[in-house]
Amino acid sequence: MRERPASGAGQNGRVPELPEVETARAAIEDAALHRRIVDVDDSDEYVCRPHAPGQIRDALVGREFTAAHRRGKAMWVDTSGDEPGVDGPSLGLHLGMAGRIMISGADGGQVSGGDPPAGRYGIDADAPGRKPEWDRFTVTFEDGGVLRLFDKRRLGRVRLDPDLDSLGPDAEQIGVEEFADRVGRGTAPVKARLLDQATLAGVGNLLADETLWQARLDPRREAGSLSRKELRTLHDALGAATRSAIDKGGVHTGEFIASRKKAGVCPRCGAPLERATVGSRTTWFCPREQV
Ligand SMILES: [Zn+2]
Repeated sequence: MRERPASGAGQNGRVPELPEVETARAAIEDAALHRRIVDVDDSDEYVCRPHAPGQIRDALVGREFTAAHRRGKAMWVDTSGDEPGVDGPSLGLHLGMAGRIMISGADGGQVSGGDPPAGRYGIDADAPGRKPEWDRFTVTFEDGGVLRLFDKRRLGRVRLDPDLDSLGPDAEQIGVEEFADRVGRGTAPVKARLLDQATLAGVGNLLADETLWQARLDPRREAGSLSRKELRTLHDALGAATRSAIDKGGVHTGEFIASRKKAGVCPRCGAPLERATVGSRTTWFCPREQV
């Protein structure tokens, strides 16, 4: 087993969260559906574990991708079955800490999504010096185009029929009542509740800080102490922050994110930001407004 980095975040703090994964899902939906699969390179035993090399290939060759889904940071693709009305296996694609999905068309055009190309690791996705092994998993279509998981850090995962039972509802789609019931309970800090993927799927460290700042709530507050009104405000802030990040291409585009640093000040009121560790993650907040 390769060790995961001690911190949950990449060195620049950018890790695929729900919005990044949604851009990858949308890229697959745009460009990879209904193309016949003629080859699969699943030889990276670490990324494709627990499958043996060739197992994913055998399961996919001859099929087509038929739909692309996402819940939180988990993404999976349906495949066509051997006969009408029977689906093939689903293919789970997890971007890990820096993965990017890139899909080329028969004409050589390219569609992609995931870790932003300007990110610390995504930047090399198309650079001349890129190494072939950074494509951890590839699917070749009959028309000559290719879908690849570009992942320099090798922390992505590819697997057949992924188990999604441990994931809570998707953070962008959850309704306000269910959100309030799931998040507004217990003695853990509210930020830790937001980050808990079984409570709610898709929120990472940056999106949590952005959302709590937008909602003017102290990340250290006990989740169970939040009023129904505060939980509604938090739900609305999460929805708005998530949609904005999807539209603008990632969580790094949030209003608050650039200020999360030493000597950073609140973009709204100008107060010096405070730093704390909440839910074992580095947390920044405005001590004047977030109460
Ligand atoms: Zn402020």
